Amino acid sequence: MSEIYKDPSYTPTERAQDLLSRMTMEEKVGQMCQVDGRIDADTWIYEKHIGSFLHVTGDAPIYLQEKAAHTRLGIPIFFGIDAIHGHAFCSGATVFPSPLAMSCSWNPELLETVAHITACEVIMTGLHWTFSPVLCIGRDLRWGRIDETFGEDPYLIGVLARAMIKGYQGEKLSDPYSILACAKHFAAYGETQGGRDSAEADVSERKLRSVFLPPFREAVDAGCATFMAGYNAIDGIPCSANRWLLNDVLKEEWSFKGFVVTDWNNVGHLHTTQKVAPTFEKACEIAVWAGNDMMMSTPDFYEKTVALVKEGVIGEAQLNAACLRILELKFALGLFDHKRFPDRSKAADIVGCEAHKKAAYEAALQSIVLLKNDNHVLPLSKDVKRIALIGPNCENVQSQLGDWSFGTREYPEQPTLDYHPEYDISPIVTVLKGIQQRAGKGIQVVYEKGCDLLDNKEHNFPAAVKAAEESDVIIAVVGDTNTLNGETRDRADLNLTGAQQKLLETLKEIGKPLVVILINGKPLTIPWVKDNADAILEAWNPGMEGGNAVAAILFGDFNPCGKLTISFPCHVGQQPVYYNQLPGWHGGKYVEISEDPLFPFGFGLSYTRYEYSNLTLSSTMLKEDDTLIVSVDICNVGNYTGTEIVQLYVNDLYSSVTIPIKELKGFTRVTLNPGEQQRISIHLPIASLSLVDRQCRSIVEPGEFEIMVGSSSRDEDLLKKVIRVME
Ligand code: BGC
Repeated sequence: MSEIYKDPSYTPTERAQDLLSRMTMEEKVGQMCQVDGRIDADTWIYEKHIGSFLHVTGDAPIYLQEKAAHTRLGIPIFFGIDAIHGHAFCSGATVFPSPLAMSCSWNPELLETVAHITACEVIMTGLHWTFSPVLCIGRDLRWGRIDETFGEDPYLIGVLARAMIKGYQGEKLSDPYSILACAKHFAAYGETQGGRDSAEADVSERKLRSVFLPPFREAVDAGCATFMAGYNAIDGIPCSANRWLLNDVLKEEWSFKGFVVTDWNNVGHLHTTQKVAPTFEKACEIAVWAGNDMMMSTPDFYEKTVALVKEGVIGEAQLNAACLRILELKFALGLFDHKRFPDRSKAADIVGCEAHKKAAYEAALQSIVLLKNDNHVLPLSKDVKRIALIGPNCENVQSQLGDWSFGTREYPEQPTLDYHPEYDISPIVTVLKGIQQRAGKGIQVVYEKGCDLLDNKEHNFPAAVKAAEESDVIIAVVGDTNTLNGETRDRADLNLTGAQQKLLETLKEIGKPLVVILINGKPLTIPWVKDNADAILEAWNPGMEGGNAVAAILFGDFNPCGKLTISFPCHVGQQPVYYNQLPGWHGGKYVEISEDPLFPFGFGLSYTRYEYSNLTLSSTMLKEDDTLIVSVDICNVGNYTGTEIVQLYVNDLYSSVTIPIKELKGFTRVTLNPGEQQRISIHLPIASLSLVDRQCRSIVEPGEFEIMVGSSSRDEDLLKKVIRVME
């Protein structure tokens, strides 16, 4: 029989089918396993026919792949890595701002470029698959993984998801710099009760379909190659045991063609933690039945499943279905034909190269949000000759890079929070370095750490106060760090930690202009800062070029344009405080505080000001298959060139079920010189005004809809008009 699987003239499906027909049952089970490649790799390759390794870095992917080439069928291995904001586990690679930060750019083209660069660097290190993008919805800020999300709005998350998937996967997977994307965590993982990582998400099917599934649907439509099931349970069913979710919705209703990987040992958790399987064997059976194709980090799955197939508990047809999906992608990526061994001579020119660093700088510039700027304290006046730069995040490399970078818990080479000796931190431009470099000779920068991020000691306050007293302006760099963010690191409180709040209060008393720069994974409750700082720059985890970007904004080389994609609460007790709330809160406020966020979704200032006027609609009577054109004039009435993010919200005034008071349905970016006015138009397909009804069907209900356009989600920032959608 001719070996079709070796012949590139056949399609990936034909080749995968042919290969599958030659595989033993054990080889099929092996394909369905993904384990940590640093543990007993030879046994996994030669005896257990491993399908994929994760968290392998350095030269290992290359020599392990060479070993796989010498197995009976020579099936190549998929190597996966969490490169979610650049290939940040790899020393020397480009580290972009966190996903939450980058979402504040509202710039899909930027995200596509970031993902493409990440793919190039991942490929150059012999890997082929990133566990990104994260499409969880960031609503309860106590949750430790808010920094990984694109914020709180399903529509915006969907748009950015598409862009990232395109950037990772290219036009087609066979392109030399394409890698597999992975939409995760499917589904509602960010909605677990109390913000507790991996707990239960008690959401109905209607809510799933209205809020949590739409970004994932976008990912399927964008051709996302893989999906990862969440750790959480939904309404009593762990995601990895949810056949309705993984099979009926994802694979059948949405026609997803790729494969589903579990999260880390989800299979084991079915037995040990979630306890829906009385034995580990039962957990394996449920996981295969539910539609998981590859099991991450459940080493015992191999032996147990081989035995279960021999006993007839798991049918070989189920293995075939899973393997076919995995093998098709190995063929589509070209792994069988050229193994994708990176050209080491090129790697040095690509990984972390100047052009990529420039993109990291651009991404940081566009991610930073100006939250306050009283009396035009920013950009810094030419009269500023002495700057006091104070705070625990001025030169904290880990806070700046954020989670899923070298020093975090999951860092593959050495699970420590200390700097890894082999990881070169010299290319990272901290805020201190960035400001010192930009300030140059004429301006003196005096740095004092002031306090620690975590402990309450105040013994460094006097030095900070002295520096502040002798300066023209105080720049305080505060926030949080990786030990307060990430997996299993949920917070009960969102205040500034350690002595940071006290430090700011002490600095305020000096009476000099106070600029606060926040380097943090997620929104913090900082009402005092809002009331007392003269200016606030939210820089998030701005990545390796963060210091240069912050400096450029402080000195006016770049006019900030980011807008929040997540609402800031005044107090942790307001959680959740996302803008797209359902109507009907009796009394409309807490006894102690209002329901208003500290800073709302869509908010962000600039060094200039934009005026909106003349909102017009192409029609006010429309049908479901029409497209409404919404137009508005925007004028830059200030003195700086700037980019404004124009937002379009809709409210279905009366509907058969309660729906959000306002939902983002479109946005665009416009760059204007001082005095310049432009008329911009946003196309709004009426079909996108659908809701999910009681029967869980997506329908557009006839009636009146309010169309709102403006600079943020706040009512006072929006121009409004009403349309009628007819039967
Ligand atoms: C996380 C995933 C990640 C995986 C592999 C899990 O604990 O939830 O997001 O992709 O580990 O590192």
